[in-house]
Amino acid sequence: MDDLLTELERQLCHSSFFTQASLEKHGKLADKLDTYVTALIDLLVQGGVIAVDDLRVAVDENRRAQAEATRDRYDREGTLPPWPNVVVREDDGATPAPEVEIDCAARIDVCHAVCCTLPFPLSAAEVEAGKVKWDLGHPYVIRHDSHGRCVHNDPAAGTCGVYHDRPAVCRGYSCAHDERIWKDFDNMVLNEEYLGSRARSDYTFRPASAAAVPVTVTSPRRLAAPMPGVTADCDPPIDLPVAG
Ligand code: SF4
Repeated sequence: MDDLLTELERQLCHSSFFTQASLEKHGKLADKLDTYVTALIDLLVQGGVIAVDDLRVAVDENRRAQAEATRDRYDREGTLPPWPNVVVREDDGATPAPEVEIDCAARIDVCHAVCCTLPFPLSAAEVEAGKVKWDLGHPYVIRHDSHGRCVHNDPAAGTCGVYHDRPAVCRGYSCAHDERIWKDFDNMVLNEEYLGSRARSDYTFRPASAAAVPVTVTSPRRLAAPMPGVTADCDPPIDLPVAG
């Protein structure tokens, strides 16, 4: 058990380093882009091509349209913006009531609480309250287990382990008109196509071929001297297999 914990800690350490390094890399790129875009805007304004007020309006409009499109998609399809990102639900803090009260006990043998496999973001207040777990790989989305089920759901009984502290989304949810769940609500026919087509809530880095950057890797084991910039006391970040 100690070995497992040590290995887990080492892996968490590495993943934290990776996150830090990635953020740093993208931060530097963002700085560079910022410098170029700012210089370009200055030139366009000085040359009388654009007015600062017009630019401000255009930027605000663009931002608003993007946020609205993301929200619409989530409302319509329950689809979160593409990972990786950070999502927080905005709500007014009111306790919603379900549109239709559902007799869950009468349906549980059919649905097996499949509603508790739907992903949704927590609100800032729910995150701060600390009662409901969110996914460390996708802040601040409700945490699912490796089978894609909310970690607070008891799979055998279908009950909620944080019932009195459950998120507002769960309090206000009713599956009566949710076409993701039911093909035929009255006759209890599940929408197996939709429910079966969803991926597990695992976040794996799989670059699309268009976005992938091909690299040539030379195994450190084949280098006679340390690579420049690698200090002697640095734990090698990745133990690469020796090629060939
Ligand atoms: S918090 Fe409770 S009601 Fe909400 S998804 Fe998880 S188990 Fe279901």
